[in-house]
Amino acid sequence: MEDSSLLLSCKQTIIFFGTLIDLVSYGYGLKIHPTPNALCYSDLYCLFKVVEKDFFPIVLGHEAAGIVESVGPGVTEFQPGDKVIPLYLPQCGECRFCESPKTNQSRIGSKEMALANSRLTCNGHKLRQFMDISTFSEYTVTHQMSVAKVDPDAPLDKVCLLGCGVPTGYGAAVNTAKVEPGSTCAVFGLGAVGLAAVMGCKAAGAKMIIAVDINPDKFEKAREFGATDFVNPKDYDEPISQVLMEMTGGGVDYSLECVDSQFRELSETISRCVFVCGF
Ligand SMILES: [Zn+2]
Ligand SMILES: [Zn+2]
Repeated sequence: MEDSSLLLSCKQTIIFFGTLIDLVSYGYGLKIHPTPNALCYSDLYCLFKVVEKDFFPIVLGHEAAGIVESVGPGVTEFQPGDKVIPLYLPQCGECRFCESPKTNQSRIGSKEMALANSRLTCNGHKLRQFMDISTFSEYTVTHQMSVAKVDPDAPLDKVCLLGCGVPTGYGAAVNTAKVEPGSTCAVFGLGAVGLAAVMGCKAAGAKMIIAVDINPDKFEKAREFGATDFVNPKDYDEPISQVLMEMTGGGVDYSLECVDSQFRELSETISRCVFVCGF
C-alpha cells in the first residue's frame, strides 16, 4: 500500500521515493546505489521553470556519487562494487563530438533524455529520467556511457560534487574563458561553482583572482582555493564594477558569474568590470 507520507506534491509533478519506483534494466545498463546527492540549481530550474507538461513526471537529481550494485550482460567496463560518478552528459566515445577536443556534447545525449529510453517506471507508467541518470532515487539504472569510475578510496560524499558543480566552475575558467597565465580575474559568487572557478583561475596561472560575495564568511575558504583579493559589495556605496576598475587599474581580463544569470543587474555589472576597447 502506498504511504502518502512518501509523496511530495508540487505544482506540476510528483516525486516518488524509493521502493515506489521499479527499475528496468537492459544489456548495457548498470544499477547504481547513489548515496550522497547534492542539490543543483538545474534540478530546481526543471522543477519550477520548465513549463512543458510532457516533461513530467520526472525523477530529478544529477550531482551524485554511488556504488554499482549490478550490471547488465553487455557491460564491459564496470563491475559490482565499483565507485562511480553519474555523468550529466553521456560520453559514447565514438561520435564526432566525443572525439572533438572542442566539445563534450555527445550526439547521443539528447536521445537519452527521451521518455521512451527511461528505465524508471511507476505503477506501469514510465517516468522521465533526468539527464539519463535521475539520482534522487534509492537506486537508478543507466547506460555505462553515463558513468565514470573513480578511485576505490574516493570519499563519495565529496566526489559527488565532481558530477556537476566542480567541472562547471573549473571548466568555465579553463575551457570556456581560457584564462591565461598572468591575467586578472573576478569571480562573482563563492558557492561550489564559484570556488571551482577560483580553482580553475589559479590552475590557469591568473596572478590576481578577486572573489566577490556578500557573505564574507566564504572568503577564507576562497583563499584556500586560490583567491588573492576579496570584495563584499555591501562594504561599498559605489557600483561594484567601479570598485573593481579601481582595484585593477581599468578592469579585469576575465569575469566569471557563478551566482544566477537571471539577476540582470549582476550580469550588467560583470560585463562592465571587463575593460572593452572601443574605436
Ligand atoms: Zn548541476
Ligand atoms: Zn559521443
